[in-house]
Amino acid sequence: MDALGPEEWEALCDGCGRCCLHKLEDEDTGELAFTRLACRLLDCSTGRCSDYTHRAERVPDCLRVTAQTIAEYDWLPPTCAYRLRHLGQPLPEWHPLISGDPASVRVAGISVADRVVGEDDAPDLPWIDFIVDWPGQWPPAARVAARRGPAKPS
Ligand code: SF4
Repeated sequence: MDALGPEEWEALCDGCGRCCLHKLEDEDTGELAFTRLACRLLDCSTGRCSDYTHRAERVPDCLRVTAQTIAEYDWLPPTCAYRLRHLGQPLPEWHPLISGDPASVRVAGISVADRVVGEDDAPDLPWIDFIVDWPGQWPPAARVAARRGPAKPS
């Protein structure tokens, strides 16, 4: 991963949007739980950042994954391409670099598109009411595909 240039590094992101969801931490155990509440910059219909270029200025605690910091982010979803490659695992067949089609992320059930709500648009309820398990899991179909490994070139 250290050898990747900036464009290659960006291309490794599958655009799932799972890292853009707010998380809650159990004060006693340190356990993290994903919510379906998204960063205010996330376009919830596409699962992509609506202002990627300026995200760091607009959301100061926006995540900056780099080859030097990836080891710190063990809370990233198990499907995250950066996490997978950091752990020496192959990209799954739905990853755009393998499938050649960004839409495969949504088809595989990895994208957060149309499954989450922006923090500014959420009903006035405690955040604990928005906890969901799926961002921390592999969808069943994707799990099977990942076990098979990347698609072979035809
Ligand atoms: S979870 Fe990983 S692959 Fe998905 S959008 Fe975030 S950085 Fe990209």
